[in-house]
Amino acid sequence: MQHPARHVGAPDVDESRLVELHQSIADLLASRGQWRQAYEHLRHALNLATAERTPRVPEQYRLEVARLRREHAEAREQSIRDALTASYNRRYLDQKMLETVDDDGGLAVALVDLDWFKQVNDTFGHVVGDRVLQQVVELLQVALPDGGFCARYGGEEFVLMLPGVDLATAITVAEAARARIERFPWSTIVRGLRVTVSIGVTHQNSGGGRAIIEPEQQLRRADGLLYTAKQSGRNAVAYRVGSEVRLSGAPGRRRQR
Ligand code: GH3
Ligand code: MG
Ligand code: MG
Repeated sequence: MQHPARHVGAPDVDESRLVELHQSIADLLASRGQWRQAYEHLRHALNLATAERTPRVPEQYRLEVARLRREHAEAREQSIRDALTASYNRRYLDQKMLETVDDDGGLAVALVDLDWFKQVNDTFGHVVGDRVLQQVVELLQVALPDGGFCARYGGEEFVLMLPGVDLATAITVAEAARARIERFPWSTIVRGLRVTVSIGVTHQNSGGGRAIIEPEQQLRRADGLLYTAKQSGRNAVAYRVGSEVRLSGAPGRRRQR
């Protein structure tokens, strides 16, 4: 005899699958703060788990789960991306920095700041400035090593996080990014536009001593090196070898203003 709650035409799904579906919906609703609806689904799950027989899964539940999962993934993605440049945002960076503290693969960090960017806005307007930031991010994201990513640190500053990469590789990555940005045909966006960046690069265990430094401290050191790159005339990558600060990038291409 057919179960009274059976839906004609619905495909067969076993009892545990239906319970699972209710639990999934409940989880998703709870993660969105919809506690009441989440509770209803949990109650359904409980009733089914304790019932003798289970009806088939109504198609609408399957669709609801798919829709909620999609919305959940989209909301998560939006919460970790910068709206203007689509690079990762500060929240994601902070989260990843905490996770990386315990990693023993070594972490390199490059702090990137646009040169004379206020002038770009003042001369060509904010819309062009925004377009420049988007293009810079595209150029920074080219050929990053596995696990590496670009995040907007704030305003016109970006961080390249390069886990599991040694200092020499990080310098190569940063110098390639600097050169790529210098060579980009900026005048195709607006005539007379020129864009360069200065970069400070540090490695977790290249702080001068033997101790491994934490990502936040590493960023502070990268900021110090960035300052040196700016002082040296901008359009340069600064890093430390032992107690000595070195620069890469063609000295003849620096920009005093
Ligand atoms: P320096 O080479 O010393 O870094 O000079 P700078 O002009 O780049 O530095 P400053 O800190 O004086 O100016 C940064 C500018 O970046 C000021 C601010 O208006 C601009 N900026 C920050 N965020 C955005 C943004 O989202 N869009 C645009 N268009 N401009 C931005
Ligand atoms: Mg800045
Ligand atoms: Mg700047």
